[in-house]
Amino acid sequence: ELANRMAERAADVVKALMKMGMMVTMNQAIDADTAELVIEEFGHKAVRVSDADVEQVIDTVEDKSEDLQPRPPIVTIMGHVDHGKTSLLDALRKTSVATGEAGGITQHIGAYQVKTPNGQLVTFLDTPGHAAFTSMRSRGAQVTDIVILVVAADDAVMPQTVEAINHAKAAKVPMIVAINKIDKHEANPTKVRTDLLQHEVVVEAMSGDVQDVEVSAKTGLGLDDLLEAIALQAEVLELQANPNRAASGAVIEAKLDVGRGPVATVLVQNGTLRKGDIFVVGEQWGKVRALINDKGETITEAGPSVPVEVLGLSGTPSAGDTLNVVETEAQAREIADYRIKTAKDKRAAAGAATTLEQLMAKAKADQSVAELPILIKADVQGSAEAIVQAMEKIGNEEVRVRVLHSGVGAITDTDVGLAEASKAPIIGFNVRANASARQSANQKGVEIRYYSIIYDLVDDIKAAASGLLKAEV
Ligand code: GDP
Repeated sequence: ELANRMAERAADVVKALMKMGMMVTMNQAIDADTAELVIEEFGHKAVRVSDADVEQVIDTVEDKSEDLQPRPPIVTIMGHVDHGKTSLLDALRKTSVATGEAGGITQHIGAYQVKTPNGQLVTFLDTPGHAAFTSMRSRGAQVTDIVILVVAADDAVMPQTVEAINHAKAAKVPMIVAINKIDKHEANPTKVRTDLLQHEVVVEAMSGDVQDVEVSAKTGLGLDDLLEAIALQAEVLELQANPNRAASGAVIEAKLDVGRGPVATVLVQNGTLRKGDIFVVGEQWGKVRALINDKGETITEAGPSVPVEVLGLSGTPSAGDTLNVVETEAQAREIADYRIKTAKDKRAAAGAATTLEQLMAKAKADQSVAELPILIKADVQGSAEAIVQAMEKIGNEEVRVRVLHSGVGAITDTDVGLAEASKAPIIGFNVRANASARQSANQKGVEIRYYSIIYDLVDDIKAAASGLLKAEV
């Protein structure tokens, strides 16, 4: 490998190493210092790859405002189970087929685009639910611009509705409420709206600023209105990107396909991805062999907010990985290698940042108001509410406890996911974590603290907060 990179013969490199007293074979790994000596021996210059080098190779220069153009919004649908997320995604996709937009048969690639009645494009992430949203976010990829909160009009605000609200709020992503199943005769949209008030979601019909649209995924009623609402929200957000630069994007799905090899669906976030582009994606790299859109058509380029299947990867990346186009294959390979080597350290460091002590230390380092994000799970609604109130009282102008989510019941994987994404510890009050949540918390380095007396919990948080204040004086 080293010989290859220096464009020297492998046998000569082995010979040189033997002269230095290293009895190695061609396939044996040597350490970086030895490699540097060998490289100099051959009259080449060694360049060690560091984070800074990676930054340089990857074009991270900020776009000038005159280069920016509007881009379609990227939308994720969230809500309680059975409230109609999947049906709504299907119905919206069909609208575009019905209006003759789709050429071929729709393909499931993880995201698709739809045209609004006014002709604007909207990109929908095709994986409803919270797990996808948080797992992407915990990997640093925030791809969602707008969350559609689906609430069934024949039901009410349910636990996962509240979870979705908290996820969206934690990620600071604006919401649009879709009141679904409006075709049912027992539908009661007003109840949904008043229910939402209790969770600080004030919809426009209640004089708030969150758009609400009544829809039926079954009959198609209101779907155009929903698309219009999205377009309106997108306009407010002024979403922009520069199509005239090297592409960067996020992997939303990846798999090893029997016939096609590793395939990743990438959502282009900036620039334009073209056939033949050389790229690095997480710990993999490649050269775009083909691009396939959500209609199964082969395309030659994909601009901002376009979801596209990318063929030509060295291996399968993970959802949430970032793709960056670089200039040469050598650069792509080097960055991928470097990432493989450093990934382990990074994982360890990232996992460790969620204990209460570390959060305090981090808050201390920040000049601004220290904010301590926490998640609360309790045995009954009454205690959950009491704890939230107690936590909110602890804050002053320097330290603030922010309750990201509070709920009733055992600590689950979803909680751990949100905690990881927001680098927050989980407080269990008279509840435990289930086995799988315990395991994933261990893996992700999320701290779970158990309490059965509110005063103990309040004391612990207060002590941490006042320790922080003393340290600042
Ligand atoms: P998800 O779990 O949120 O993805 O919900 P689904 O999309 O699987 O829908 C749950 C059930 O509600 C299914 O039986 C759907 O057929 C039904 N459903 C979804 N949307 C509507 C609607 O607008 N009207 C009626 N009547 N039923 C709906």
